[in-house]
Amino acid sequence: MFENIKNLPADPILGLMAAYRKDNNPHKVDLGVGVYKDEEGRTPVMRAVKAAEHHLLATQDSKTYVAPAGQDSFNHHIANLVFGKRLNTELGGRRVTFQTPGGCGGLRLAAEFVQKVRPGARILVSDPTWANHIPLLGDAGLRIETYPYYDKVNHGIRFDQMMDALSKAGSDDLVLLHGCCHNPCGADLTQQQWQAVTELALQNGFTPFIDMAYQGLGDGLDEDAYGVRLMAESLSELIVVSSCSKNFGLYRERTGALSLITGTQNATAAAASQIAATARGMYSMPPDHGAAVVATILEDQALNNDWQAELQQVRSRINDLRGALVKAIAEQGVDQDFSFIQAEKGMFSFLGLSVDQVHRLVNDYSIYLVDSSRINIAGINHNNLPYLASSIATVLK
Ligand code: PMP
Repeated sequence: MFENIKNLPADPILGLMAAYRKDNNPHKVDLGVGVYKDEEGRTPVMRAVKAAEHHLLATQDSKTYVAPAGQDSFNHHIANLVFGKRLNTELGGRRVTFQTPGGCGGLRLAAEFVQKVRPGARILVSDPTWANHIPLLGDAGLRIETYPYYDKVNHGIRFDQMMDALSKAGSDDLVLLHGCCHNPCGADLTQQQWQAVTELALQNGFTPFIDMAYQGLGDGLDEDAYGVRLMAESLSELIVVSSCSKNFGLYRERTGALSLITGTQNATAAAASQIAATARGMYSMPPDHGAAVVATILEDQALNNDWQAELQQVRSRINDLRGALVKAIAEQGVDQDFSFIQAEKGMFSFLGLSVDQVHRLVNDYSIYLVDSSRINIAGINHNNLPYLASSIATVLK
């Protein structure tokens, strides 16, 4: 059965991580992997998470099964966080939320659910999009096509071409949008652009599927949810997958959510029964710990405030680093304009370097980034910034 299996090439990010770990250069910089790092290069457990874990350890009195949809209180609080309390109340029974094993589990659960009710449905994804969207959605059976999104030359969104492509999508299609902090390009839709895409969805009937993995890492928890809330308010059908990996720093605990809105309470109840059966067929129930931590934090005003204060620091650090990088590169006398990096949001941006230039950074300067020249802004700190800026300036000459 297993004799003639083809060996798959190693994932380039994992190869890059391994090479970084082996590198003895004291100046080495890791801009590859997509996790938040603080000024000391650590990915800390957030204070409120630690406090919630202490509380759970002291009070949890059973490890019995929960349910395919996970914990009610997590689902309730996450839906408030994603949609805002007012809108969430208004949506009532038209909205259902499922706790999922991370954002990835939510994306796959949504794709498997759609595949069940609309086999082979087409989903349009941005060019470029996060690489893992392709197997998460495509392996479930959805038909993936792309729409133009990021212009690597002018460092902006190709909005006219995007709208042109989406205008050809209809009621049998899904359109995947990044809620905020686009991965990999950092270029987000403006409020006017969200309005235009929402209008088009209303006219043509396609169903938006929003992946929001970075709520709170761009402009703020509410600000980052602008597009999600506009669509939830305006459209009769919407899929939203959110993740607690970045904003709660819960990466390995696999904590996320799938929210579905349909036109009627009855349709949502029927869809929920299908999603529950789908989850049961894949993993039965989502892992509990991360969701229990999140529910504990969101239920408690003091913990909630402390979590928001720490998240605010994360967000400010990323936005400050964006400005500092642009300034440091300019101070090296580089002609190219890198100010787009300051305007982009979240952890990622493309530097806009060629593969050759990227390889020189990796091989000659021990600055680790993927071939596309996507960098994790949080891998920068005030120690490595001058070295990074001068190395970038050298490979550009
Ligand atoms: N969507 C995007 C765009 C992401 O970047 C990520 C995290 N890298 C996820 C979803 C899901 O992450 P997780 O499964 O860890 O919650």
